[in-house]
Amino acid sequence: MSDSYQDATVTHDRENCIGCGMCALLCPRYWSMNPDDGKSDLVDAKKGKNLYQRKVVHEDIDENKAAAEACPVNVIKVHTK
Ligand code: SF4
Repeated sequence: MSDSYQDATVTHDRENCIGCGMCALLCPRYWSMNPDDGKSDLVDAKKGKNLYQRKVVHEDIDENKAAAEACPVNVIKVHTK
């Protein structure tokens, strides 16, 4: 039972984002388009070595998965343990 309430980690390989806008369209509370370079930003993400990443609460996992599935270059990953 407890597994179903785990949070997830979402990562964004921003360097390879092509700025299509699908993530911001499907999951606007977590994704926004950056007017400076036309790529998307994962809201409140921290930059790791190569990827931006943040925790996502259980209720918002599906919305982020929809963004990941819609991303044409597969730069969004949703990691659930
Ligand atoms: S869906 Fe993928 S390629 Fe499109 S803006 Fe979002 S991260 Fe970038």
